[in-house]
Amino acid sequence: MKPVIALVGRPNVGKSTLFNRLTRTRDAIVADFPGLTRDRHYGHGRLGKREFIVVDTGGFEPEAASGIFHEMARQTRQAVAEADVVVFVVDVRAGVSAQDHDIASYLRRLGKPCVLVGNKAEGMQESAHLAEFYELGLGEVLPVSAAHGQGVRSLTEHALEALPWQDEPEEEGEGEARSVIRLAVAGRPNVGKSTLINTWLGEERLVAFDLPGTTRDAISVPLERQGQKFELIDTAGLRRKGRVFEAVEKFSVVKTLKAIESAHVVLLLLDATQGVTDQDAHIAGYILESGRAVVLAVNKWDAVDDYARQMLERSIETRLAFLKFAPLHFISATRRQGLGPLWASLLQAYRSATCKMPTPVLTRVLLESVRFQAPKRAGSSRPKLRYAHQGGMNPPVIVIHGNSLEHVTDAYRRFLEGRFRKEFNLVGTPLRIEMKTSS
Ligand code: GDP
Ligand code: GDP
Repeated sequence: MKPVIALVGRPNVGKSTLFNRLTRTRDAIVADFPGLTRDRHYGHGRLGKREFIVVDTGGFEPEAASGIFHEMARQTRQAVAEADVVVFVVDVRAGVSAQDHDIASYLRRLGKPCVLVGNKAEGMQESAHLAEFYELGLGEVLPVSAAHGQGVRSLTEHALEALPWQDEPEEEGEGEARSVIRLAVAGRPNVGKSTLINTWLGEERLVAFDLPGTTRDAISVPLERQGQKFELIDTAGLRRKGRVFEAVEKFSVVKTLKAIESAHVVLLLLDATQGVTDQDAHIAGYILESGRAVVLAVNKWDAVDDYARQMLERSIETRLAFLKFAPLHFISATRRQGLGPLWASLLQAYRSATCKMPTPVLTRVLLESVRFQAPKRAGSSRPKLRYAHQGGMNPPVIVIHGNSLEHVTDAYRRFLEGRFRKEFNLVGTPLRIEMKTSS
C-alpha cells in the first residue's frame, strides 16, 4: 500500500509550495481528463519506483478553540493521526515561533515518525538559523527550498526511510489469495454505505474464510456471492455493532485514500437526494488518480421523483465526465433494488482491470484500427504504429511501439482506446496507453 505523508506547519511556512513540488510529477497523468476537479490538499508523488500520497493539512492549530477553526483542527489532527509519516515544515527565515513549539509538542506526544524540515533555506544552508530548531526536540532539521526545489529529494528520502514498514511491491499470490476481490465502498457520510453493506450481509450467505494478510488499518469483511469471494474494505469508519455495521466516524480523507489504494474495485456511492456535490467529485478524483477500477451507484433512488432523476443524470454526465468509463447504477439499499446488476458490474470491472491481453490480439486490433483510420501526418512524418503489448494490469496498460509516435494526437489515442476497450470488453477500468518510439 502507498504510504501517506502529511505536511504540517503553521500558515505561510511554504506547505502548499512544497506540496506542489512533491506532487508535480503526477499532474500530467490526469491532465487530460476534462472536468476533473482537483482536491489541492492531497496528491500522488513518486521517488524512483516508490509511490506515496501527500496530504497538505493546511494551517495547523492544535488547540483551536471553537467553530470553524475547531473543525479544521479536528480534521488536521485526524489526517496527522492517520498518516504514516509527518513532515513538519518550519520557516528558517522567521525562526522558531511559539506555534512551532505547540505543534512540536503535539507531534512528540503522538510518537509518529516525523521529519523536521526548514523551508526557505535557499542560500542559508550553513546558517546558524538552522541550529535553533533543535530546541523543538525533533532532531535534525533538513534545509530545503520548496520554491527553488532544493533539498526536496533528500526530504522525500528521509520521509520514506522514517516509515516503520517498507513499501515492498505486493506480489499477487496465485490461487486462493488471488481469487478474493478487494472491494472498497467509498462515498460521503450518509450516502448509505453502511446500509448497503448491511443489506449485502443480510441477503447473502456469509461464508467465513481465511484472509491472508488483512488490510492494515481497516476492518475488512469477507463476503461470498455466487462462489466469488470478496473482501469489503471499510472506508466509512464502520464499526461492528452486534451483527450489523454502523458508521461511527466522520469522513476521513486518509482512510478513503488508503482503502481506494488497497482495493481492486471501488464502488463510489452517490446520494440521489443530494445530487453530485464537490466532495463526491473529489472522491471520484481520488479514484481516477489511483487507477483503480470503479463502478458508480446512485443510492436512495426510491426517494426522488422523475425530475430529480433527470437532473441527477445530467449532473453526473457533466461533473463526473472523467469517469465515463465507469458503469452507472441506480439502486436503493433499503428496498434492495438494483443490487443484482450492480454485483454483475463489480465483477466485470474486476475482470476488466485484470484482463490479460495477448500481444497478437493487441497487435491485430492496432493494425486493423490503423487500416480503418490512419493517424494524421505531422509535417513531413506520419506516425507509424507497429505493434502493441500489455505493459501492466489493474489498471491495464497497453504499450504501442513504432516510429514518430510523439505525433499521435490525443483524439487518435482516444480512438485507439475505444477500439481496445471494445475488443476486450473493458468496462469500469481506466486504460492507459503508452507510446514507445523506437527511432
Ligand atoms: P503555506 O501557508 O504553509 O501553505 O505556505 P505557502 O506555500 O502558501 O507559502 C507561503 C509564502 O512563502 C509564499 O509567499 C511562498 O512564495 C513563500 N515560499 C514558499 N517556499 C519558499 C522558499 O523555499 N523560499 C522562499 N524564500 N519563500 C518561499
Ligand atoms: P453512511 O454514512 O454512508 O454509512 O450512510 P448510512 O448507511 O448510515 O445511511 C444514511 C441514511 O440514509 C440512513 O438514514 C439510511 O436509512 C438512509 N438510506 C440508506 N440507503 C437508503 C435508500 O436506499 N433509500 C432511502 N430512502 N434512504 C436510505
